[in-house]
Amino acid sequence: MTETLAGALHGQGRSCVITRRACFSASHRYWLPELSADDNAAHFGPCAMAPGHGHNYELIVSMAGPLDADGMVLNLSEVKHFIRREVTSQLDFRCLNEVWPEFDVSTAVGCLPTTEALVRVIWQRLSPHLPITALRLYEQPGLWADYLGHPMDAFLTIRTHFAAAHRLARPELSQEENERIYGKCARPHGHGHNYLVDVTVRGAIDPRTGMVCDLSALQRLVDDLVVEPFDHTFLNKDVPFFAECVPTAENIALHIADRLTTPVRAIGAHLHKIRLQESPNNAAEVYAEAPQLDLMPAALETAAAL
Ligand SMILES: [Zn+2]
Ligand SMILES: [Zn+2]
Repeated sequence: MTETLAGALHGQGRSCVITRRACFSASHRYWLPELSADDNAAHFGPCAMAPGHGHNYELIVSMAGPLDADGMVLNLSEVKHFIRREVTSQLDFRCLNEVWPEFDVSTAVGCLPTTEALVRVIWQRLSPHLPITALRLYEQPGLWADYLGHPMDAFLTIRTHFAAAHRLARPELSQEENERIYGKCARPHGHGHNYLVDVTVRGAIDPRTGMVCDLSALQRLVDDLVVEPFDHTFLNKDVPFFAECVPTAENIALHIADRLTTPVRAIGAHLHKIRLQESPNNAAEVYAEAPQLDLMPAALETAAAL
């Protein structure tokens, strides 16, 4: 092979993950005909209200494969074509309950068009055409679902925040030693952050409600066990656990995972991951179910960085 030819074929045959983003706006309503009006309202809250409400959805499609002679995994115009034909042209400005038969709850096999149920159906419709490795669907910036092709399991993430102060110092060390380790973060009176917390749960999608777990129950758990006890506190003094344990971002993320693991199991899902963002420049991620790490391919991390 000549040097010029080798240069032209630089990446041919080597594999790469690519992502493509697509947006659509659609409405939906959570309402099951076998439940009374009161039960629908109790289960689904304002999402049960007629005639429904809408979201600006954002879909991230991750695909993998070897590079062709043109230096591409796939021609992007083909990728755009399939996403438009199979998904966005069918869903944009439509009512999700009506547009796809999977969400027709007047039939026994229909389920509600939740974010996790919708991303699974999008996978089923796109995967015959594109080599998808992961899909992420944002219903809003603080709520999204990931689907990796498993017949049942999906991942659901909610984002919340709290503001808190902390000081990084080990009590057995001198101020000088602490400042050598933790820098300005060891200054005696602490400093604060607006923390962002992403809580990811994994579970089977219920065949009727379309849900991995009761979303309002999950939100309540995160509010009661994380936001309420941590928000507007000095973590070292107000949260007993951090009297003994230096509240680094890593330790806070681990402690949040420990607080949520059992309660999340009690609402029928598995706590998968906690991501704690302390500032725009640093974040810590904890996988709460280590054996499931294989389920999280690099493709999803690519999507997460968008
Ligand atoms: Zn909604
Ligand atoms: Zn800090």
